[in-house]
Amino acid sequence: MQRLTSEEFVALATQNSDSYWFAPAFTTLSKAFYADKMVHGLLLVSPEMSGKAEFAAKLSKSILCNASSGVQLAKPNLENNTAAVEAELNQRQIGYSCNQCKSCQLFNSGSHPDLYFNDRLLNKQGKVKQNISIDQIRLLTDKLSSTAQMNGWRIGVIASVEKLSRGAFNALLKSLEEPGQQTLLILLVNQFYRVPQTIRSRCQKLTFDLNSKQLVPWLMRQTQCDIATAEDAIKHTESAPLAAKVFIENGSADDYSQLSRDLDSLLNNQLSPQQVFSQHKHLDEQLWRYMANYFTQVPLKRLTDPLSPYAKLPKTSAFDLYNQLLQYHKGQSLGSNLQFQLQIESILNHWFEIGRKIVHYSNHTH
Ligand SMILES: [Zn+2]
Repeated sequence: MQRLTSEEFVALATQNSDSYWFAPAFTTLSKAFYADKMVHGLLLVSPEMSGKAEFAAKLSKSILCNASSGVQLAKPNLENNTAAVEAELNQRQIGYSCNQCKSCQLFNSGSHPDLYFNDRLLNKQGKVKQNISIDQIRLLTDKLSSTAQMNGWRIGVIASVEKLSRGAFNALLKSLEEPGQQTLLILLVNQFYRVPQTIRSRCQKLTFDLNSKQLVPWLMRQTQCDIATAEDAIKHTESAPLAAKVFIENGSADDYSQLSRDLDSLLNNQLSPQQVFSQHKHLDEQLWRYMANYFTQVPLKRLTDPLSPYAKLPKTSAFDLYNQLLQYHKGQSLGSNLQFQLQIESILNHWFEIGRKIVHYSNHTH
């Protein structure tokens, strides 16, 4: 999981990504915002690489913008020209900002006094720390409870809530229990089950509808690819739009095919688990997804190609490894690089051993 700096975060607000899946979420928030029913805690839950940070940046900028927040707009005079007022209200939409007011300018320069962005920090060796610390959260909640400098709103964004230490969760909870007026905490979450119930119950959960019918044409527009490439990329990236886009742009389809071939060779005992790991470990986070995807394809191949080594596999072996992989992955964000290596190698070892029995058996019967 990549770390995001404050500068990178604010830059996302001006990115034009044509992300169709933002619109329904912005509409939901607009209704609440203009009805004065905005929540204090927002849990934005969606898979990694689906644009949560960009959404949060656009949302923050928009709420802080003097135009959309209505600070510079005269209070609607409801007695005359109600239709015009209503039309104007309908046009105001959270998610857009004027990009010209003082607030937008401060936001763009990364120095908006009422925006507090948090991600993991670097340690003295320049490596990304494992957790977001209690001190970071205390600083954030202090700032949220101090006086606003601009239009009244103060916004805190936490890039990966899964990375909060236990103490940090408790500090965050305090802030959610006694929120100040016009404060908003935007919490970005990849894995909802990692968020404690106490935090969940005090936040509004917001998810993206990553409908693949729209995702295919979006990918084709973004990368100029054909329909088959788009569909293939979506399959390999669990419908996370930005992951699918990167998959196409980086030629990751080749990475995946190579990994599949090597996993086949591993099953045939032509490669060792260590060889497979060292050739693919650079894929990092994607390695889980690709391996999981490979194992889900195996039952189909078992059926369609009776001569393949898959056909001789015990029925549920690939499925069992898939489940094991998921379990490891769930526990992984707390783990180290060493743990990542041990877990992947353990799966590879199993696959090799399953293959060894088949190879052994074939040698004796043919
Ligand atoms: Zn503005």
